[in-house]
Amino acid sequence: MSCIKQIFSIKPRINVGAAFASCRRFHAELVRHESSGLPIVHHSKYVCELSPTHRFPMGKFPRVLHFLIKDQVITEKQVWVPEIASKDLLSCVHTEDYLNNFINGTINEQEQRRTGFPWSEGIVRRCRYETGGTVLAAEVALQRGMACSTAGGTHHAFPSYGSGFCLLNDLAVAAKYLMGISSPKRKVLIVDLDVHQGDGTAFIFKEEPCVFTFSVHCGKNFPLRKQQSDLDVSVEDGLEDKEFLSTVEAHLPCLLETFRPDLVLYDAGVDPHWEDELGRLRLTDQGLYQRDLYVMKTVVSRGVPVAAVIGGGYSRDIDKLALRHSIVHRAATQVWRECGM
Ligand SMILES: [Zn+2]
Repeated sequence: MSCIKQIFSIKPRINVGAAFASCRRFHAELVRHESSGLPIVHHSKYVCELSPTHRFPMGKFPRVLHFLIKDQVITEKQVWVPEIASKDLLSCVHTEDYLNNFINGTINEQEQRRTGFPWSEGIVRRCRYETGGTVLAAEVALQRGMACSTAGGTHHAFPSYGSGFCLLNDLAVAAKYLMGISSPKRKVLIVDLDVHQGDGTAFIFKEEPCVFTFSVHCGKNFPLRKQQSDLDVSVEDGLEDKEFLSTVEAHLPCLLETFRPDLVLYDAGVDPHWEDELGRLRLTDQGLYQRDLYVMKTVVSRGVPVAAVIGGGYSRDIDKLALRHSIVHRAATQVWRECGM
């Protein structure tokens, strides 16, 4: 069996884990009282209408779930459905003016151009569900050790404006929300391996000692003007699997030992892939799989929960792209199984 086939043939373990009937789930419409495998967070409203010529591959979100079920990586019983993120929840990161303009459609044209999307009610709803999904994935990961959404990773959104296809910063909202409901504050490590720097997230947490932002990105890629993460590793164009993995290996264990997070939020963007339309690196499917496996194994083996989001990925071939995004769920399934969760 080829390596690629191995990636796409991981099956779930049956009846894993113990029941967590006492879980407090603030953002789930659906409450599950028994463990049914790796929690996958998904909402049918992660997607909205866009013009067919728009370059953002909106159709990928439902297809990620489709392939996970079709390939028997997961069953429908593993799917957790998030609630829409309330304005109140979003205000822990975003300014009131921005939220009012964003929700009510009074964003001016220049601001819309910066986001890459024409404003619509659908896009607002989609982004709010996506953010609710990341918050739920983080909550469930704290209870069960791991969870993966089928969207999320909108790391270019700043408190008062959207940018680069990112309108709400789901990672920042999830981190702030979890810090806000615990005392003492939980510590969150954000591991952002999308090909683009997580500039919005870095900006939001630059003065926050309880959140550590770690970004590995292609230096010549968007955004032109980088922010300062707690740890930035800027890599050159054309980087391949082995070098990318050694870059992550050189930093992640040390960060886990020194920062000692209570939770890791993992942005598993697939845009470092060699075929990606916006990436400039040379990772393969196998390289992405090894990267995701390494990150989640390294985190979970230290007893730290991890919530993963899919991050960026750009291709006109939606099914090929959705399969690529499903690599993180396949790797997570292997970690879930091997770690006996
Ligand atoms: Zn990206």
